[in-house]
Amino acid sequence: MLEEYFTAKKRLYPQSVKGRFRRLKWILNFLFLSLYLLAPFIPFDRGESSPNQAILIDLSNSKIYFFWIEIWPQEAFYLAGILVTAAILLFFVTSLFGRIWCGYACFQTVWTDIFIALEKIFQGDRNARIILDRKNNFEKFWRKTATHFSWIVVSLITGYGFVCYFNQASSLHENLTLNIWGWILGIAGATYLMAGFAREHVCTYMCPYSRFQSAMFDNNTLIISYDEKRGEPRGKWDGDLSKTQGHCIDCKQCVVVCPTGIDIRNGLQMECIACGLCIDACDNVMEKIGLPKGLIRYDTMSHMLDPKPEKKFKILKPRSFYYASILILVFGIMIRSLIYKPTLEIAAIPDRNPIFVKLSDGSIRNGYTIKITNKTHEKKIVTLKVSHPKQAILKPSGSFDINANEVGTFKVFVTLPQDFLAQNEEGRGLIEFVLADEKEEKNIQAVFISK
Ligand code: SF4
Ligand code: SF4
Repeated sequence: MLEEYFTAKKRLYPQSVKGRFRRLKWILNFLFLSLYLLAPFIPFDRGESSPNQAILIDLSNSKIYFFWIEIWPQEAFYLAGILVTAAILLFFVTSLFGRIWCGYACFQTVWTDIFIALEKIFQGDRNARIILDRKNNFEKFWRKTATHFSWIVVSLITGYGFVCYFNQASSLHENLTLNIWGWILGIAGATYLMAGFAREHVCTYMCPYSRFQSAMFDNNTLIISYDEKRGEPRGKWDGDLSKTQGHCIDCKQCVVVCPTGIDIRNGLQMECIACGLCIDACDNVMEKIGLPKGLIRYDTMSHMLDPKPEKKFKILKPRSFYYASILILVFGIMIRSLIYKPTLEIAAIPDRNPIFVKLSDGSIRNGYTIKITNKTHEKKIVTLKVSHPKQAILKPSGSFDINANEVGTFKVFVTLPQDFLAQNEEGRGLIEFVLADEKEEKNIQAVFISK
């Protein structure tokens, strides 16, 4: 029995197919690939002090730019928010349309599709590839070499596209360092292995999403379904369907086109990525033999069991409503916090050596390092005061200049008189700094130590 788990999986030779879902997949592949490769080249003017690339992950300055949104290192929680929003969006879409992410948008699917298309160009379709793999001659050598060469070219373009998100894309070709080459080759290697060799094993064994996505399904989720009532009992096509035979003529076209190698007639399986190619294959067969299309189709379980028109796909159902409500809430919070994001930040770090200094008149002085972050693209003039306690004297006080997109560091001292401190037995209290420019005000508390 254990053998079943350790037996090598048979190599798949997916056959090409024509049809509406195949066409849709090519259109989406083209759109997603164009987006992936061109997005880092979109310009966005942020002034002279910041990069003019719309999407950039600037690792050297620990900042992320996405059009008008800028995420500073201390705002990493926004990334968590984006990930949570993306996860809820995925749950919402899955509850409605099943695994359409896997079938049409996942990068593993998109790149595997391209690699299989290149394989077909150089080695032919399914049958030709099976025959070629049995040969051992020069034809096999050059066809395989050409295929792998084309895969390597696509992988290198993918790697280059990836590093464009982390560097100034428009001038990257002039600044290719050893480190950048390392990343290009690393990503290219992963692409070559995943899309060229691992393929369906990534979806079946490596991707955690395939394991838990069925938990988001209900009877009204769109899934790829084989109409068993109509198709069974299956039998060979002899040009005349007897009254006892179902519409499935057991041609196995739906199986040979499947990129994960499953037979959808056995019911919904974890391996099914909902790509719809088996629908195209079966529709083509039905058309040829003059039977209605849709023996395999996108449908809901409840409509399959009770195929009345009113049982058709319902978009408004409790589960989708819950996901949509959570999605709107989280997305709303994210948008609000991004719109009202402060442009000034202040941090006050008390000196540790000496902790305090007793002056000749008995008053106590504490030193602080003040860090003021200007998150705008213009220079800011800000004022710094101590608002509490009223007796506190700040030196130097007044206004400070902070350059655009910079963190200004200043040394300040706060002194409290002896008679005020006499009321404080503990020898430690809180003071409050107020930072302001003409638009915003920020308050921050810091510890004042007198004993
Ligand atoms: S393609 Fe259609 S007819 Fe052929 S085996 Fe699959 S379900 Fe049956
Ligand atoms: S069973 Fe059909 S929809 Fe599912 S992965 Fe195979 S071809 Fe795609």
